[in-house]
Amino acid sequence: MKLYAPKYYRNFKCIADKCRHSCCIGWEIDIDESALCKYRASKHPYASEVLNSIEQGESAHFRLCEGERCPHLNEKGLCNIILNLGEGYLCDICREHPRFYNSVVGGSEVGLGLACVTACRLVLSSDEYTDIIEIGELCGESDCEYSISEKREAIYKILSDREKTYAERLLHIQKSYGVSPSFKSDGEWRELLDGLEYLDPAHRGLFSVYSSELSENEMHACELERALAYFIYRHCGKAQSDAELREYLGFCLFCERLLASAVRDGGVDIHTAARIISEEIEYSENNTEDIVFEFYFTES
Ligand code: SF4
Repeated sequence: MKLYAPKYYRNFKCIADKCRHSCCIGWEIDIDESALCKYRASKHPYASEVLNSIEQGESAHFRLCEGERCPHLNEKGLCNIILNLGEGYLCDICREHPRFYNSVVGGSEVGLGLACVTACRLVLSSDEYTDIIEIGELCGESDCEYSISEKREAIYKILSDREKTYAERLLHIQKSYGVSPSFKSDGEWRELLDGLEYLDPAHRGLFSVYSSELSENEMHACELERALAYFIYRHCGKAQSDAELREYLGFCLFCERLLASAVRDGGVDIHTAARIISEEIEYSENNTEDIVFEFYFTES
């Protein structure tokens, strides 16, 4: 089946040991069965080290070291599994990060998650989000029957119209699709944000500044536009019906306002705020579901 991606996707390259916020720190990495089989079958002495570093909980994962570092991240910031066994021995999560996939009719779409600092810089600096291009083939077949591409194009057409102010474009999207985070008060949203699960509880404070207020001269309008385009690509791409598309669009509009609030009142730069929102919300199924659920059957 065909594989599609935003045009900027091809410019992504992990900077590995140069990364100042490595994804090999702070995350509990689940190991897939196929990688486990490879470690068990290998005669290489490092494969035994890998097996000894695995903890069996609800799912197999690497036991983190001090500072929540992956046990295979060496002092130079490089991966000892790659150095000793080769890239073919990475588990799915390590090989694919920061990529995400959505099934579409006749194929699959791939994108880059904002939790990766390098992907975040690329996504927030690229206006090529409207160009979704074919980049290759994937094994397997897609069983997706809901076509997102024309619907997403229609949203992107409004979003990318820079003849209008950013605020006008956001309001146009909210009105056209009958969905907006402002159906709840800022206080209600803050309460919901406070009750989410957090990787780093200090981020609760950053989210406590949430406001749906939209200014005519929105700071960082271009980056916010690109971030919203990314949220739409990532989350609306999961919709299997018009009703779901609307719910996910509500979620995306909410994440965009959370990003705008964190930058305006949270004392962090836009790349840091986007990374934290991605880590805390997008990479938590529970948090994403809790917010998407709020848009179930709502009217703006
Ligand atoms: S966060 Fe991104 S750039 Fe940094 S190590 Fe991970 S994939 Fe590479």
